[in-house]
Amino acid sequence: MKKIAFFCIPAHGHTNPMLPVAAELVRRGNAVRFYSFKEFEKKIKDAGAEFISCDPFLPELTEQEEAGLKNVSTTEMTVQDIRITLAMNDFLEQEFKSFQPDVVYTDSVCFWGKLNAWKHKVPMVVSTSTFAFNQMSSCYMKNSPKEMADMIFGLPRISKELKELEPYGYHVKSALSLVQSDNNTDSIVYTSRRFQPYAESFSGHYTFVGPSVFSKVLPKKEKERPLIYISMGTVINDKPDFYGKCIDALKDMDADVIISCGNAVNIEELGELPENIKVYSYVDQLDVLSKADAFITHCGMNSVSESLYMAAPMVLYPQTGEQYAVARRVTEIGAGIMLKDDSAHGIRASIREILDNKTYGDAAVCCSEDFRACPGTAGAAEFIENAPHSWDGVDIMDRLNKANGKFLTLYWLLVIASINLIGFLVSWKYVWIIGIAAGILSSPIGKAVQKRKYKSLTKNIT
Ligand code: UDP
Repeated sequence: MKKIAFFCIPAHGHTNPMLPVAAELVRRGNAVRFYSFKEFEKKIKDAGAEFISCDPFLPELTEQEEAGLKNVSTTEMTVQDIRITLAMNDFLEQEFKSFQPDVVYTDSVCFWGKLNAWKHKVPMVVSTSTFAFNQMSSCYMKNSPKEMADMIFGLPRISKELKELEPYGYHVKSALSLVQSDNNTDSIVYTSRRFQPYAESFSGHYTFVGPSVFSKVLPKKEKERPLIYISMGTVINDKPDFYGKCIDALKDMDADVIISCGNAVNIEELGELPENIKVYSYVDQLDVLSKADAFITHCGMNSVSESLYMAAPMVLYPQTGEQYAVARRVTEIGAGIMLKDDSAHGIRASIREILDNKTYGDAAVCCSEDFRACPGTAGAAEFIENAPHSWDGVDIMDRLNKANGKFLTLYWLLVIASINLIGFLVSWKYVWIIGIAAGILSSPIGKAVQKRKYKSLTKNIT
């Protein structure tokens, strides 16, 4: 029997996949203490784990900070993550002394879990509720200009906050080092190797266990008319206009429609509903998806995984860079299409495309079978029980980084040589143009070379 401390941020999408793992660990006789928030108390207790409330350590938020969190601002989330870590320091100091966990199982962006595992030298396993992201797989993301600006202009604020951690014994190089997947950390990812982009770039410290769900129910699609399910998840779901357009688009269709709109939307404001459309603030999503024939989704990793697990093809409407990465992967495996036109007409056309073409459903069925063949929660529990893991395979990313370093040195040596050559032979007046052009081109050229190198490395190693 092991003592295992679970840590997670207050978010459904991050907490939900940890719950079946907690239940499995408890079933196997381990003691699981789950550090979380009252919103999740019931679910945690239902899973059989001991719930420890971290609510007193949530900081008071200004209006601006609250708005930042609501808009999933990376800067705001990082800053609040650091503040909670600081607020919890004394409490967790005591907890680590009294509980003495054998293993820490922490969400990948839960700083207080990660930092305390390192500080107290307890083996740590990271729970990755999105794809595992490194420099290869993050190419799948497409951040909006707003997201980019938030990340760039937020850097000074983040580095100022990070400095606060040092006196408490938390040593952090950068915020990125705290959140990015690295090849030396034991990590559980809730998808299959097939669905994870660039899966071969992740070391043997990773296990891809498939979607973490309580239900083992099989998809059951037989019924009189199709069922369409719509949800924008639990975070950025305050979208009454979009739900209104969906209602408009689908009210005359010979299909049943279920919309989960979250707590922020007043259902009455959506007006009188047509007989074929039902709106709820929260539903048993797995149950609905097991019967659904099409799912309009914001492309949260959990929603998409659950949809594929239940063989429901999707209309993809991502709202963030991370969700875009998930959406792109779904289109690659053929189980969904992007919602390019979000007018009522565009929504109707996309749903018709999914319902009228069997190929999307077939691709989803194929993915469902792949997910169900993964190690699942039992595999995740075993991985946590046996942590830390050793691995002495070939680290592709290490080799790739070395090759990237060599390429960049060569590239800039060539640029300097060209500048000197042109300066001496022609004129020094315009050489700055070469410098600027080389700077602009270094990123796309570097990425193209990295992709080629990656291909040749994986070919040689696998
Ligand atoms: N969910 C649910 N019922 C609802 C809406 C959402 O059970 O009515 C669950 C869903 O099954 C998933 C999670 O909430 O496990 C949402 O996570 P996801 O990663 O898809 O999106 P997020 O809410 O984090 O943006």
